[in-house]
Amino acid sequence: MHIRTRFAPSPTGFIHLGNLRSALYPWAFARHNKGDFILRIEDTDLERSTQEAVDVIIEGMAWLGMDIDEGPIYQMQRIDRYREVIKQMLESGIAYPCYMSEEELNKLRDQQMANKEKPRYNGMWRPEQGKTLPAVPEGVLPVIRFKNPIGGSVIWEDAVKGQIEISNDELDDLVIARPDGTPTYNFCVVVDDLDMKITHVIRGDDHVNNTPRQINIMKALGGTPPVYAHLPTVLNDSGEKMSKRNGAMSVRDYQKAGYLPEAILNYLARLGWSHGDAEVFTKEQFVNWFDLDSLGRSPAQHNPEKLLWLNHQYIQNADPAKLAQATKPFAHELGIDTESGPDFTQVVALLKDRANTLIEIAEGSKLFYLPAPQLSAQQISENIPATVVPALKDLIAAIENAQPSKEGYSAAFKQVLANHQLKMPALAMPVRYALFATTQTPAIDSVLVVLGKEEAVNRLSKVVQ
Ligand code: GLU
Repeated sequence: MHIRTRFAPSPTGFIHLGNLRSALYPWAFARHNKGDFILRIEDTDLERSTQEAVDVIIEGMAWLGMDIDEGPIYQMQRIDRYREVIKQMLESGIAYPCYMSEEELNKLRDQQMANKEKPRYNGMWRPEQGKTLPAVPEGVLPVIRFKNPIGGSVIWEDAVKGQIEISNDELDDLVIARPDGTPTYNFCVVVDDLDMKITHVIRGDDHVNNTPRQINIMKALGGTPPVYAHLPTVLNDSGEKMSKRNGAMSVRDYQKAGYLPEAILNYLARLGWSHGDAEVFTKEQFVNWFDLDSLGRSPAQHNPEKLLWLNHQYIQNADPAKLAQATKPFAHELGIDTESGPDFTQVVALLKDRANTLIEIAEGSKLFYLPAPQLSAQQISENIPATVVPALKDLIAAIENAQPSKEGYSAAFKQVLANHQLKMPALAMPVRYALFATTQTPAIDSVLVVLGKEEAVNRLSKVVQ
């Protein structure tokens, strides 16, 4: 079988990480099986759909590296196709016009509620052998209803939830077209999944209730239902449904906050799926390992600390040149001119082991691009004890003679410390202060490498005159 999956978002409003996870699993399943992955935009809700939301979805997927084989296919561009299928269904008798007015429907519902029955359409306009239908009222545009099977049940083996059985008695005749002829949601999904030859529908479990209706329509149209895998929801860190209101961030927000796409992808992969106890893995490993059997059955919970931890892992292990490239925009945002001063890749290499985000690296890099500090006599006397000055003078000479490497500068320090019987902090703190007017810097020997011998010696000389 040639596997074909789809991600079918409704571009209505805010797109959070949980939404993109619904893209990741069908994508991974298609890639694992060398199949196709289709992006379908379910934009028939004209009032709530926005181009902005479509853009966020497409950009987010591209950023995370989820490549698309077909699409984006917009449902609004397929309206003629849906109308054509409705026409065929009317002709073949698997759908029928229903002239029951809104008022009549409401009345029916009220009666059923009063009798403690489940509100449902009563089949008044459903054609049956030997049944006489009411006279068609004048000037009323009908809805079109699907003739749902009577009796029996719909059964499917959900790849996540196991076998699910819904009695047909629970399902009334679904409206598939409104009075103005526009097709309805569940119907469009069926036509699309059939036309697009989708073999596996992997989607949020908020659609479980739609599935029996979709299966019935699909079968009536002569199609074979795909495999369904309904994913449990993603809850936020307080166990609530994820939403913008309670602080969910969009994928763009994560990008702006200095997260790496690899870290987000890895994180999303684990949000409802596992492979043994693997926590950090590449996209290729994920695709190799991905299967529907290892999808979680209970809701996944968003864990911002874990995401930050993963981001740190990816930053720490990243190639410095690539990481520098990714960090540059953040540095520029902070007003840092990465072209004037030390080599930015070297700076990033120095900072990456301690950083959780690209913003943290950019902030740490500031130190190396600020002009040399202009220290007042008072600042010097307060931060560079007179007793250390002789050692500092020797250190300047030792630095000048040292190999310009971490090892070289480290040896220079050791030699001066031994000669003056000082401990590292006693010398390193004044050196840091002399170089940057702060004592918070990464390891001093590495800092000297990045700053460069000449610049370091210039700055140090100014405080010992
Ligand atoms: N458009 C639906 C949603 O965004 C998904 C429909 C489906 O996957 O079948 O929830």
